[in-house]
Amino acid sequence: MRIAVDIDGVLADQVGAVLEVIEREYGEKYRKSDVDRAHWTFGGRDLWSEIGRLLADPEYALNLPLIEGSQQGIKQLKDHEVFVVTARRPNAEEATKQWLNAHFPCLIDYYHARTGTKQSVPSDVLIDDLDFNIVEFVRSHPDRRGILFVHPWSINDTDIEDYADRVYYCPEWGRVVEAVEDIDSERDIDNER
Ligand SMILES: [Mg+2]
Repeated sequence: MRIAVDIDGVLADQVGAVLEVIEREYGEKYRKSDVDRAHWTFGGRDLWSEIGRLLADPEYALNLPLIEGSQQGIKQLKDHEVFVVTARRPNAEEATKQWLNAHFPCLIDYYHARTGTKQSVPSDVLIDDLDFNIVEFVRSHPDRRGILFVHPWSINDTDIEDYADRVYYCPEWGRVVEAVEDIDSERDIDNER
């Protein structure tokens, strides 16, 4: 199967990193559980603009920590065609590719797609931490499956519930790997029919 994997919130612990910077620069301490929607704001500032600003700095982008279990998880998907799809801006692409090469050398193909347009990538499965992306992806074709990597900010008033039979909710990488195995065996059964 072709599997598209998002970077921020799935491979890289972007929110964890930005919250540390916010504490250092603004003296305001937040936890991940405070970030309860995609367009979360703190002190009048938008978290996602803050992330965009920080990612323009290669030093920051190159030092982003990993999401726990992501390296092992990607290794376990080796029988599939796995590639990256990200909404990160083009100015972060160079550092992002270096970061990927250091931590996930097997992830070679790289697609850029704005949030809510990831259905444009040629893939059977999308692993992403935002419901907008998963909904548009599964809606675009009945055979497509979405894996929502669940964080406190993942659910944002979309109609994701309407696609319950095509969406897997996974709070950690072990569960993502199980979901992929499940989707793969379901496809084998369909192909035998
Ligand atoms: Mg993401």
